Amino acid sequence: MTTNNTTHAETPIEIAGAGPAGLAAAITLAHAGRQVVVHETHKEVGHRFGGDFQGLENWTTEEDVLKVLESLGLTTGFITMPGRNGTVFDPARNAYEIKSDEPLFYLIERGPGPGTLDSALLQQAQSLGVTVHFNSRLRHMAGEGILAAGPRAADAIAVGYHFETDMENGYWVICDDELAPQGYAYLLVMNGKGTVKSCMFSGFKQEKIYVKRTVAAFEQLVGLSMKNPQPHGGSGNFRIPKSAYSGPHPQVGEQAGFQDTLWGFGMRLAIHSGVLAAQSLLNGENYDTLWQRALLPQMQTAVVNRALFSLLGNRGYGWFLRHQLAKPNLRQLLCRQYQMTPLKRLLGPWATRRYESRRKDITCDHIDCHCIWCRGECCVHG
Ligand SMILES: Cc1cc2nc3c(=O)[nH]c(=O)nc-3n(C[C@H](O)[C@H](O)[C@H](O)COP(=O)(O)OP(=O)(O)OC[C@H]3O[C@@H](n4cnc5c(N)ncnc54)[C@H](O)[C@@H]3O)c2cc1C
Repeated sequence: MTTNNTTHAETPIEIAGAGPAGLAAAITLAHAGRQVVVHETHKEVGHRFGGDFQGLENWTTEEDVLKVLESLGLTTGFITMPGRNGTVFDPARNAYEIKSDEPLFYLIERGPGPGTLDSALLQQAQSLGVTVHFNSRLRHMAGEGILAAGPRAADAIAVGYHFETDMENGYWVICDDELAPQGYAYLLVMNGKGTVKSCMFSGFKQEKIYVKRTVAAFEQLVGLSMKNPQPHGGSGNFRIPKSAYSGPHPQVGEQAGFQDTLWGFGMRLAIHSGVLAAQSLLNGENYDTLWQRALLPQMQTAVVNRALFSLLGNRGYGWFLRHQLAKPNLRQLLCRQYQMTPLKRLLGPWATRRYESRRKDITCDHIDCHCIWCRGECCVHG
């Protein structure tokens, strides 16, 4: 598709950030015949994740996420491992087996390497004529553009190791506040490599203790064996903005605060918001209207889900896992849990107040702190 508007055709649209949000926006614009220049601070895509495994969730839509990406005109040419069967442990180390005929998520790799999500999106963007400037930190955006610079604050952190391993492919989760306060510890293994992390929503300052306990627990429960472990961690920024414009420019992905407040599965929201921002520039539609229609109900529901999940604590995780994981068709159950219902709408104001008061970790005042955020391992400081 090309545009008849010669001014548009000649003026490149700038994008700050070559993450999934920025690249999805770039691809959508390039499909429509627009010139696009993406600026990326680092020398490569996915720099802050380098080799991390993440789950592309497959429960917020009836349609499979890979089909959704295709229908958005985005590549699925990255390596995936469907996440069907896995194991979740409660604080007493009771095991709950997850069995799902359909993938609950697709395990993918992040970073600049071959077969990663980031490399596939970059390749698609460049093949459509998008210019990507690496080592280029955009400080000022004069004309049309999209802001896709990633998280601006730390509402949750995930810390642990990447490693090589002889373990079988699989995924394992532990819900235990002694390992991952208000969150979950996870172990993901795909094709001889793995990631083990404590994903915590508070207690950032004691990060090292939680990581140590997480590693010990997986060693004991499933025989975690790491070769060449490399420390890795990062932060997530969860916020529902009133408007996702910064001046005239749409903000997408985590720069806007778009995240899954329940469990931190932010990639799909990043990608989808990038596509919507591009469509708003192409069609002259208001970006706030587009993301509020497509993404807001799901994000508001995730806030209610988080507030409810945070009530469980160690006493409630076992009950929750026993009741939820035993049900048939877990994917559909999760899909329903991310839909707004009258009850969840009613709980919205309570959940927003409760979550607001928790999401700034009071144990991290950024003074004399060495948590992942304060160490500056994140891409930008807010
Ligand atoms: C440890 C960890 C595990 C995670 N696991 C999952 C998971 O399993 N599933 C899931 O769905 N999500 C997961 N997430 C969240 C997911 O990674 C993010 O939601 C997603 O990457 C957000 O995409 P983005 O494009 O908004 O930002 P990013 O991926 O952060 O990309 C932003 C890019 O902008 C660049 N940049 C910053 N400032 C500038 C500037 N001024 N000029 C130019 N470039 C700039 C950065 O270098 C970066 O490359 C995880 C996050 C972490 C930290």
